[in-house]
Amino acid sequence: MKDTRATAGTPTLFTLTTGPVNCYPEVLSAIGQPVLYDYDPAFLAQYETVVLKLQTALGVSTIPVILQGEPVLGLEAAAHSLIAPGDTVLNLVSGVYGAGYGEWLRPRAQAFHEIRVPYDDVIDPAAVAAFLGAHPETAVVAVCHHDTPSGTINPIAEIGRVVRDHGALFVVDSVSAWAGMAIDIEAAGADLLVTGPNKCLGCPPALSILAVSDRAWAKMEANLAVPRGSILSILDWKEAWRAENPFPFTPSVAEINALNAALDLYLAEGPAAVWARHARTAEATRAGVKAMGLALWAAREEIASPTCTAVKLPEGVDETALRDRMKRDYGVVISSGRAETFNRLVRIGHMGPTAHPIYAVIALTALGGALAGLTGRNIDIGAGIAAAEAVMRG
Ligand SMILES: *Cc1c(COP(=O)(O)O)cnc(C)c1O
Repeated sequence: MKDTRATAGTPTLFTLTTGPVNCYPEVLSAIGQPVLYDYDPAFLAQYETVVLKLQTALGVSTIPVILQGEPVLGLEAAAHSLIAPGDTVLNLVSGVYGAGYGEWLRPRAQAFHEIRVPYDDVIDPAAVAAFLGAHPETAVVAVCHHDTPSGTINPIAEIGRVVRDHGALFVVDSVSAWAGMAIDIEAAGADLLVTGPNKCLGCPPALSILAVSDRAWAKMEANLAVPRGSILSILDWKEAWRAENPFPFTPSVAEINALNAALDLYLAEGPAAVWARHARTAEATRAGVKAMGLALWAAREEIASPTCTAVKLPEGVDETALRDRMKRDYGVVISSGRAETFNRLVRIGHMGPTAHPIYAVIALTALGGALAGLTGRNIDIGAGIAAAEAVMRG
């Protein structure tokens, strides 16, 4: 009989990626609300409400900023706004995103330094302390919280303590970690934490979210090189949250409505419960991966992310062929590696609506089945599912 799947394939049934992720149904219906004029009093009130709700969700004492573009806008804006002429900058690199961020920091820094570790490992806070001891002039330190193309979590609370003791400003890319795991932004001393609603909050990619400390505002206000009247300006949006103040330009009305719905879901479920289901989904996935005889990418399981599981590609397996097979035969889409991690791992996302342990069973079935089909290897999918289910049963 002809295998019709070979030509047609299964439609995408499960998007188990590391972002963009599929959205919560409530978020999708919020996008379909009427798009109000941005100066309609109802939208002005809505914008203020969303920013204040966001402040609650972030757990910070300062008013956060929403920039009208997906999170790379927030990251680029942070580099432009926080680095002043003459600054010495330290970038911490444990993966592709951390390394990429250096390309925005370097041109603005008077002196630019990096601490690099292999991409299956994380930054050691003691190394940061040693560097700052030797370079007391360091003004800005940047780190990627969850370097998504490696699925590893940097110890930002410990790094932040070192940076705060030294007095430098601390920039954190927490795009794919925030809202998927516990993070006390102020205790970690993060002066500019950049995140977005398109990962663990289950929204489409369209907005940047920035938690800004008083120290960061002061630095930006004193910075002669700070962007103003620009898409990259953070300062332009400082007062825009108040209903009586103007917007610098038209905000993304539909996406603000979507963010509002996502924040309502997040706060109603309770952040701790949301983080717990992310952690349990990742734990179930890791247990299943190991039980099927596959290896995790992370050098040590303690540093593996609760929002993404990176699985080492077995020798000789082509990642594109593997992911194509998962899509064709199972309707499951997962993420590839990026740059240095491309064709060395695949990633199963546990973010927002897919951060429920039952999705581990789906991902493991598709991954194990596709690998067995491609390589002819005997993969014990049943053992993988049993191990995941044992975590679910608790
Ligand atoms: C997703 C993500 C971003 C935003 O970049 P995209 O263009 O959405 O991929 C930035 N940093 C990290 C760590 C991310 O995971």
